[in-house]
Amino acid sequence: MDYSKLRGYFFLNNKYIKASKANIHILNHSLHFSGSVFEGIRVYNGIPFLLGKHLKRLLCSCDLMKLHINLSIDEISRIIFTLIKKNKIRDGYIRPIIFRDSKSMSPDISGCESQIFIAIWNWKLLFKDKPKISLTVGKLKKMDQRFFPVKAKTSGSYQGSIIEKYNATLKGFDDALMLDSNNNIAETTACNIFWYKNKKVFTPKTHSILNGITRQIVMKILKKNKIECIVGNFKRSHIMNADEVFITGTASEVVGISKIDEKKYTKNDIVIFLKDEFDKLKNLS
Ligand code: PMP
Repeated sequence: MDYSKLRGYFFLNNKYIKASKANIHILNHSLHFSGSVFEGIRVYNGIPFLLGKHLKRLLCSCDLMKLHINLSIDEISRIIFTLIKKNKIRDGYIRPIIFRDSKSMSPDISGCESQIFIAIWNWKLLFKDKPKISLTVGKLKKMDQRFFPVKAKTSGSYQGSIIEKYNATLKGFDDALMLDSNNNIAETTACNIFWYKNKKVFTPKTHSILNGITRQIVMKILKKNKIECIVGNFKRSHIMNADEVFITGTASEVVGISKIDEKKYTKNDIVIFLKDEFDKLKNLS
């Protein structure tokens, strides 16, 4: 899919514009030095799902990456509702991104101003054709807060993920499982990971991962249903002995894992249960 060919209306710096006119200069600071922040938000039945949580994280990411916009959560929400209406979106995806202009070509951002862009398009699930996906353990490690602000959903944090996704696909896997700098399990290239073992769910601490909004929702569902969820540092051997493994994210929702390298996972009980509970929440929104 070539996203530059999307049609309809987008929002760029206080204006609704035709998608074909949504251009920025090639000497854009965020293109050269990264550091933009963004969100991915689902639209189900014409309503943005968990919008408040996503916009709160977007503004928190701005603070952490020293980007400044003069729009409140309510103002951005209104823009998003207008875009859904203007583009007649029923089941889709919203991509707000905040980035710098072209007033610097060095890491010095003191002269730069922030820009906001919001795109929207019709979109189904990321792994829509697959009931389960396969993972291979990647070589590059996920960075932690010693290296960059982990809580920010920033373009800069995806460099290792891009390479590991590429390598995983070359090896015939759907995605890569990445470890932290101490070789504990972290997350996949763009999703959080959980596993189920002895009737308990396990998931990594947040020091090296994006604390996903879907992750937090799944943990709430588990708590409500009195299924224990243990958050900690776990080595690879822990997940290899699990009964079930699954990943969570806005673009993929809840997806089961069929195998990690040679190890196969054949059960689906907790994944089916969580998918059903997640669908109920979507239908309530
Ligand atoms: N980790 C990474 C690295 C991600 O890019 C994403 C997708 N935003 C997630 C986890 C899942 O986060 P969320 O549930 O908020 O989409």
